[in-house]
Amino acid sequence: MHPNDPSLRSFVEVVPSSDFPIQNLPYGVFSTAATPSPRVGVAIGKFVLDLSEMERAGKLGEGLSDVFASPSVNPFMAFGPVAWTETRARISALLRHDNPELRDDTALRERALIPLEKAKLHLPLAVSGYTDFYSSREHATNVGVMFRGKDNALQPNWLHMPIGYNGRASTVVVSGTEVLRPHGQLKPPSADVPWFGPCKRLDFELEIGVVIGQSSRMGERLTECQAEAMIFGFVLLNDWSARDIQQWEYVPLGPFQAKAFATSISPWIVTREALEPFRLHGPAQEPEPLAYLRQTKANNYDLRLEVGLRAARMKDYVTISNTNFKYMYWSSVQQLVHHASSGCTMNVGDLLGSGTISGSEKHQRGSLLEIGWNGTEPVELAEHTRRTFLEDGDSVNILGFCQGDGYRIGFGSVEGTIVAS
Ligand code: MN
Repeated sequence: MHPNDPSLRSFVEVVPSSDFPIQNLPYGVFSTAATPSPRVGVAIGKFVLDLSEMERAGKLGEGLSDVFASPSVNPFMAFGPVAWTETRARISALLRHDNPELRDDTALRERALIPLEKAKLHLPLAVSGYTDFYSSREHATNVGVMFRGKDNALQPNWLHMPIGYNGRASTVVVSGTEVLRPHGQLKPPSADVPWFGPCKRLDFELEIGVVIGQSSRMGERLTECQAEAMIFGFVLLNDWSARDIQQWEYVPLGPFQAKAFATSISPWIVTREALEPFRLHGPAQEPEPLAYLRQTKANNYDLRLEVGLRAARMKDYVTISNTNFKYMYWSSVQQLVHHASSGCTMNVGDLLGSGTISGSEKHQRGSLLEIGWNGTEPVELAEHTRRTFLEDGDSVNILGFCQGDGYRIGFGSVEGTIVAS
């Protein structure tokens, strides 16, 4: 049976609302108190399956040569799409309810199936490079209306290519890492000269991160099919942004320090293969893109997204945005094709941010800049607790999942709390 078959069941208990049924099998890196060295596993229900143990026990086939004992998925990704498919099928078979191989091997099960609450989750990949795009038409339009007015909302280049900038790989962190409020040069339009101090307009950005699992050569351009085959999987991504630093620094070369201080990702990489049943066509592209950017396949995904915000003294998150990855104008495949189009080398472990994901409705906005309309429409979290931007002690939590028939392919969450600098 195909690993995506909705009727598959595991001997590991998985409730329908779980993010991690047997149809998902996302890759992550974890450690335990008993075995502190980080290694690769997949999530199943409320457990992580230790792939380094399974490999050592000879259960994953020949040729992978200890890749899962690594502190990142990069060595595994380097093996390429055929190995990804075979390994996923093998793991799926090992976890099936009707396969006694692991199910009835008590000693191996004890070693290899670890309760998630005993696992410390690490950054799942060694990030080679981080590039952030700007590919939601609704987000670009909202920001454009705020800063340039309705008539010039979209820049003239926007409908012709996926706009992006080269971000910092060095400050990509895993969910749960505290985010220090950045310092920077600030100069509101009303001030004559800038000063240096803590950011006052700190924001989140709801994004999906694409994990590149294969490299391209310098000078090599990519077709749609080649680009797709290089995508290993997807994570939730929060592209923390200092709006006031950005406003003063971004002309003429784009964001720099405003985006360099932290980018958070979820600990589990959901594979492209697990998302196959949820593919759909993105919005119609008019004008038609140049030939190298045209796509024939349905490269968008029906992936539901939710953002929660919580002030320090609040117990629960308040949902402040509900949207969907399917609205993106430029697909991840088009972003990757464009990224390599000049001859730029792509590497195993490159991370591409989708750009802030907003829908057309007010409740679908993917940043506080848009939700609070540049500080003019505060969002109410609780009595006497309103926000236009993030305050110290605030936590942001992003969730995402694709809903199947009786199961969901979930991403877990990416969470972060702002601390004073
Ligand atoms: Mn961004």
